Amino acid sequence: MPTMDPNLTSFIEIEADSDFSIHNLPYGIFSLVRDGADDKSQRRAGVAIGDQVLDLALLEAEGLLNLTGGPYFNQPTLNDFIDSGRDNWTRARQSIQKLLSTDCDTLSGNPELLSKALFKQSEVRMHLPIQVPGYTDFYSSKEHATNVGTMFRDPANALLPNWAEMPVGYNGRASTVVVSGTDIIRPSGQLKPKADERPIFSPCRRLDFELETGFIVGQSNQMGHPIKVEDAWDHIFGMVLLNDWSARDIQKWEYVPLGPFNAKTFATQISPWIVTLDALAPFKTDCPPQDPKPLAYLCESTSTSSFDIELSVELLPEGAAEATPICHTNFKYMYWSMAQQLTHHTITGCKVEVGDIMGSGTISGPTPDTFGSMLELAWNATKPIALKGGQSRTFIEDGDTVIMKGFAQKDSIRIGFGEVRGKVLPALDFQFSD
Ligand code: MN
Repeated sequence: MPTMDPNLTSFIEIEADSDFSIHNLPYGIFSLVRDGADDKSQRRAGVAIGDQVLDLALLEAEGLLNLTGGPYFNQPTLNDFIDSGRDNWTRARQSIQKLLSTDCDTLSGNPELLSKALFKQSEVRMHLPIQVPGYTDFYSSKEHATNVGTMFRDPANALLPNWAEMPVGYNGRASTVVVSGTDIIRPSGQLKPKADERPIFSPCRRLDFELETGFIVGQSNQMGHPIKVEDAWDHIFGMVLLNDWSARDIQKWEYVPLGPFNAKTFATQISPWIVTLDALAPFKTDCPPQDPKPLAYLCESTSTSSFDIELSVELLPEGAAEATPICHTNFKYMYWSMAQQLTHHTITGCKVEVGDIMGSGTISGPTPDTFGSMLELAWNATKPIALKGGQSRTFIEDGDTVIMKGFAQKDSIRIGFGEVRGKVLPALDFQFSD
């Protein structure tokens, strides 16, 4: 794993609080606004650097990236590059880092090439960076699972007995994974507002976000052959921010006995930049202690298996002057590691694919301001959250925009995820007649 070199600097001017330092170099898929957003042939790979995007398709065509095989970057998704393997991930990262460094004049000394290779982020549109074969969502925050169990079931037995033995999860829908900036239509479905009456069909009245991260599978396995926990990190390419949009009232009525279905399938939203595990390596930290000790197939040789990533959520009502921060938490609170999640996912022989997204589960910490959903922040609608400008919320209303951010920082070195942002549109007007 590469380490962080604090003396590494870029010839590009980068603000000290930028998420996109030379230490980060996250991958995304972009097109130029001036080329029209809907022409897929214009989509290509880039890395974020400061407030700009470096065009990897151009650098690859110029033979500057030292890759084996390809071309990988003049494509509308990153799947082929990711599938090309860890050696190429390392080659690309080292090449890009060198090209952007003050020690190298290949780009900095070639103004003509530079002007064709760099674009302001304000001039590009970001797209879903991968074609997503599968999406799975875990439930790996002990605090979140305890909070939800307390509200939905029984405070005395909030955690079910299986929770501390395995990373509980469910298979979600890849078809509705969308990128930041996509509007989210309020879902309608079956709700049961009155315990002693039949359910009704209605727009969701308890629309919620879930603050999560997701990891991108970077290497597949053969069906029937689990990924061992000691090998699991080699199968992970990187991480994104993830908003697992949730319809709590639909969820509450439908989830017994098979878990979430309609409540979770209408939208899952990710940030456009994939931050690699290589960039995150210097920010590794311990997972919380695991008691009981997991079964052997889930035991990692080290507890330093989490990452110190600061996460936040802001809420911006339609027409409001500014967003209100409503949650600050940290990825390090997660009980199960990503390696344990991936190993458990495949332990029966399930095959995962390059580009699969594995959601962490809602990331809640120990105190009320670290809860990662409105359900918990407003405690099942009993404690409304005050917003700047005088409004308050118990759940997400039409016109609200939810913004999630994340970054890791050590001394003066910072890497970040940018943001995942989604605005809620009113439910469709269904005209049903009995
Ligand atoms: Mn979730």
